[in-house]
Amino acid sequence: MPAFRKLQPRKRLSRKWMQNPRYVLTVLINKQHYSVNLMEFAERLCKRDWSRAVDAAAKQTQASPTRYRSGSPAIVWKRTMRAEGGRSSRGIRVSRCTDLQRSAHGGPKCGVSMSVHKASVLTPKILSDALVTLLHELTHVAHLAEMTASRSKTGNRRRPHDLAFNIIQYRMARGLWGYATEPWEAGWAEGRGYAPTHHLIAWLCSAMQSEDPKVMRYLKRCEDPLKSKASTKPRKPRPPVWEIEKDGDDHVMLRWSRQTDLSLQHYVVDLVSGPGDRADIAELVEDAPRKGAGYICRMPTRLLPYLKGECEWMLDLLDFSESPSRVKGVFRMLRALEEWEKGNIWSARGAEFHKYWGWRGGIVQPVNNNNKGE
Ligand SMILES: [Zn+2]
Repeated sequence: MPAFRKLQPRKRLSRKWMQNPRYVLTVLINKQHYSVNLMEFAERLCKRDWSRAVDAAAKQTQASPTRYRSGSPAIVWKRTMRAEGGRSSRGIRVSRCTDLQRSAHGGPKCGVSMSVHKASVLTPKILSDALVTLLHELTHVAHLAEMTASRSKTGNRRRPHDLAFNIIQYRMARGLWGYATEPWEAGWAEGRGYAPTHHLIAWLCSAMQSEDPKVMRYLKRCEDPLKSKASTKPRKPRPPVWEIEKDGDDHVMLRWSRQTDLSLQHYVVDLVSGPGDRADIAELVEDAPRKGAGYICRMPTRLLPYLKGECEWMLDLLDFSESPSRVKGVFRMLRALEEWEKGNIWSARGAEFHKYWGWRGGIVQPVNNNNKGE
């Protein structure tokens, strides 16, 4: 009997790391100390609803949408939790430094990295700067995840601080702190993309100094740590995710991973010659939309035997030591297709993988028992 690696239970994500003193920003406002945990601020900010701000920006600027949705602030926060704020992750990284080294950048692919002055008690100016910087970088994430940055009229330079970016940032600041200056009133113009950010920092700073009620309520709320939902409610067991599902009378819905998609693109798409069923598969693979970390694809049921042939053929060509996740993905599709031939649907939940035998276990159910939307 082959020895299978025991499947590790999913690790409960820790929140302890967020209490690292590096993230605690203490500010002195009119002889009163307030502490803001920058990571908790980041969490609240990432989990906010960005969609209305993004939609408003898209509507007002006619920016062109990106082809695929990727790396929203909520996803960046998930990465941050998994990496526990780690340096080489693509989540949110915060460091403390002297003023001279201060820098920040952000985007949907690379996440956010920023530094804050290391003084133990900060001025309202420095705190405003830190909070707005984080908002600014997450705005890059939300903006570029949904639309492409505009180009300047002269020289075709990329302008990441375009009007759409600034509308998103403005909308979010308005929701958070009641900031009410629209980008063009705050000095935005082509080539002056940073002006609204500087205006917002100055505004937030003076709102703190004059103890603006909405901003002060916000700072006080930051003093109460976020409650972890996981500790209060036991998690509901998730329903299985089927690899292939019936979708109408003569169609199925398939899902596959990014690595499987790369294999399919190479071995199916590139080698296609002339019309026919392989060409149909190739077209569907190419157009498969992103869903979560992978792809989904609606396909006529009659194509499944051809897809199975492609999988078997790909496994002959793929080398496990070179591309283990591709082999795993193709085996996974093959297993689902084999179950389908037997009249079953299959979910990889709890299944174990072996590099020679493929996937074992998982959840099998007769295809007709599957109620869609379960
Ligand atoms: Zn920027």
